[in-house]
Amino acid sequence: MENQNNILLLEQAIEPNFKKSFWALISRWHSENGFRYPWREAPTPYSILVSELMLQQTQAETVIPYFLAWMERFPNWRSLAEAPEKEVLRAWEGLGYYSRARNLHKIAQWVYFEKKGELPSEPKELLKLPGIGPYTANAVASLAFGRKVPALDGNVIRVIARLMAIDQPVHRRETIRKIFTLATSLMPEDIEASYYNSALMDFGRAICRPKHPKCKLCVLKEICKAKQPGLLAIRPKVTIEEKEEKIAIIREKNRFWMQQESFGKKRYCGLWVFPLFDPEFMEQKAMLFSLRYSFTRYRIFLEAYEASWNKRGLKTQPLKGEWVEEKNVLSLPLPAPHRKIWLQLVAKKPSDRQ
Ligand code: SF4
Repeated sequence: MENQNNILLLEQAIEPNFKKSFWALISRWHSENGFRYPWREAPTPYSILVSELMLQQTQAETVIPYFLAWMERFPNWRSLAEAPEKEVLRAWEGLGYYSRARNLHKIAQWVYFEKKGELPSEPKELLKLPGIGPYTANAVASLAFGRKVPALDGNVIRVIARLMAIDQPVHRRETIRKIFTLATSLMPEDIEASYYNSALMDFGRAICRPKHPKCKLCVLKEICKAKQPGLLAIRPKVTIEEKEEKIAIIREKNRFWMQQESFGKKRYCGLWVFPLFDPEFMEQKAMLFSLRYSFTRYRIFLEAYEASWNKRGLKTQPLKGEWVEEKNVLSLPLPAPHRKIWLQLVAKKPSDRQ
């Protein structure tokens, strides 16, 4: 009850004039500066879902070439539903977080084989699908079906929080509920939700940026309530951790020991990888290559070692895996860091390799 009262108060706190000015300023800004993404041209429920799943955890610029290639290879529900999983994972290679590709594949099969090609249009139905959280459900419902719901990605949350001077931590559920209510109240009745959501997302990305908001250039500066010191610091908090990883390149003539990650694993599920170096069963020879990559909140320093089984390893070959012919390695779905290591290895002159 107390919550409902608070929400009512919040809604009332938005004066009609404030709402009018807000939208007039944002829509003018967006008509001149909005981003042009391929998924915004001739959108369909399928293309919107593909783009939204790709955009989870990945920057828009990175997604563009993957999205274009994906739509070329899998232009509709049917082509994706009928594709073998191995091919789907190959097409996703480089984007990381492969569970997204699996979920997209499962959804396509369900939509095509069981729902006659119709994706549900209501957020609460979309939420039941694998890999779809509240943001994606609302984004798909508004962008693909015009449902009147705000889609709160990090950009929209930040804009509304600053504009309305919400100084509670934005990762808390009650803060998000508050911001959702405000974003709903600010949405004009006669405007398509897809346009409203796209405008706020673009504005947050280009102007009301996480670290250095461009307040001097901002069209909302006269009505923005984030005037008190400290409020501009409102942004989702993420703690970055450094990690090290060692993988073993075990070779026998023209074959390499590789393993397929189990399907239950969030990272690399179902992909083929070089095993982690395990001193109990392996001997380390030379360090071959190293690289850095990011995974969720981790920055990982990956080192690839040339290695062989030790006596114990030779007896048991403890890691589930198999020998893969050199010529077949690239036909397997590999995670991007392992693919990079492999490409560096094959680029070495044969005489440099052991
Ligand atoms: S004035 Fe600054 S904080 Fe307020 S909306 Fe504009 S960019 Fe964001």
